[in-house]
Amino acid sequence: MNTTWRRRISRAFDRLLGIDRALPVRRGVLLAQYVWAFLVIALCTQISRIMTGAPAFGLDNVVMVYMLGIVLAAIRYGPGPAMLAAVLAVIAINIFFLPHSAFTLSAGAQNLVTLGAMFIIAAVISVLALRARQQAELARRRERRADALYAMSRDLAGAVDADDLARAAVQHIGDEFDSRVAVLLSERGEKLLIIGDDEIVSGMDEAAQRIAEWTLEHRQWAGRGAEHEPHSDTLYIPLIASRGAVGVLCLRPAASDRALSAEQTALLQTFANQTALAVERAQLADEAGQAQVQVQTEQLRNALLSSVSHDLRTPLTAINGAASALLDGDIALDATTRRDLTQSIYDEANRLNRLVGNLLDMTRLESGNVQVRKEWQLFDEVIGAALARAEPQLAGRAVTADIPADLPAAPLDAALIEQVLINLLENAAKYTPPGSPIEIHARADADALIVEVSDRGAGIAPGDEERIFDKFYRANGARADATSTERGSGLGLTICRGMVQAHGGRIWASNRAGGGATFAFALPLRE
Ligand code: ADP
Repeated sequence: MNTTWRRRISRAFDRLLGIDRALPVRRGVLLAQYVWAFLVIALCTQISRIMTGAPAFGLDNVVMVYMLGIVLAAIRYGPGPAMLAAVLAVIAINIFFLPHSAFTLSAGAQNLVTLGAMFIIAAVISVLALRARQQAELARRRERRADALYAMSRDLAGAVDADDLARAAVQHIGDEFDSRVAVLLSERGEKLLIIGDDEIVSGMDEAAQRIAEWTLEHRQWAGRGAEHEPHSDTLYIPLIASRGAVGVLCLRPAASDRALSAEQTALLQTFANQTALAVERAQLADEAGQAQVQVQTEQLRNALLSSVSHDLRTPLTAINGAASALLDGDIALDATTRRDLTQSIYDEANRLNRLVGNLLDMTRLESGNVQVRKEWQLFDEVIGAALARAEPQLAGRAVTADIPADLPAAPLDAALIEQVLINLLENAAKYTPPGSPIEIHARADADALIVEVSDRGAGIAPGDEERIFDKFYRANGARADATSTERGSGLGLTICRGMVQAHGGRIWASNRAGGGATFAFALPLRE
């Protein structure tokens, strides 16, 4: 019988008995198992010889002892050693327990019957034991596979972007398949981005790239053992998600001669599917994020344009009107009117100057171009400078500054903090009735210098305390109650927050008991 036929018959038997040869259930040296079967029968013989001394122990019991031995050999060592045990048992019974006169023809026939029974028991028990062991092995493998998949999906869920995901997949798949792994991500039609094991990444020559591109395009497995490029040492698996192929998984097993079993192939496909879905999810999230940023940028640009065009045009119109009236030779202007017109040109030019200054500050803050040059400063000097610069806006106000004499010097950029104070003072003047008082308080606690600018205006509408620091946000409540001309761009407080934060500090707003708002900021006292 040639080997092909032998293999066919053995496969048919396996199928009949429900045995899967692909599962390596017995390990170790096979010869040792036969030796153990021999020893078991030797032990049975010894036990039986001792027991035959007892009066009630007949030949039936001897056979039972051997049966037990055969069952043991069948369970522990499988069919081959169990058959050997059966043969040895019949020989041992004949030699040690049957009288020699019994070696007759009928005894030979009886021997055959005993041997046949023992063979059947050995075969049935060993096959049952083998199947039970295989079931247990299968269950163990399934559990290990589920654990591996769970561990990978947990890491994939925790990854922040597609690169991170690819790295997690490379590690888990590499461990599970004892292979070097790389993931090639296709970045929206651009070149493939390679992430993975150094060895496989550095070995990605043009030929390898070509196979990867083929895999991506045809969405089929390629390389090692596959139909396309079967002689490559690396396997290329397309990562296919709902929108199409998102990349390629490259796998180079450490044992270069062994092909993947059907079970491993299925598992690898599951790993690839999980990775593909996770990568697609990350790419979608990324695209959604970018789209949102674009919308926000667009909104911001529109808001800036409308705000700036309105705020630039109003003072320009006023300047234009006043200047043309002054220039018009046909109209005789008295000295007071001339002075008023000149004053309005001066005020509006100042307003324009402030607006342009704010816009420049904002742009610098946004682009991260603000350099904080901290120096140890006494705070009353900074307040003095700010009050002097905001003087035109504070005209007619009672401004009190409560600064303790022992207030420690603080490390700050005087120019930036002066600007913060000016913005807060101008707001306090802008959003309160003319003539109402403004207070400045400064104090120091263990690690911060705290400054408050308080007024007696309408205060801040509930819920607006945070939002008034947002770019271009202008609260309506305050505008309705304020009586001064409160034109603005909604940038002043945003700039304050940017400058305070650039110092490592924070700024906040609250309403005061008895009416009015307090804007406070804290700057760290230690560098
Ligand atoms: P702008 O003054 O140009 O509107 P800001 O960023 O300085 O921009 O202020 C944002 C909003 O915060 C203002 O529109 C105003 O409604 C509110 N606000 C600022 N300061 C005060 C204040 N002292 N009292 C009441 N509301 C204020």
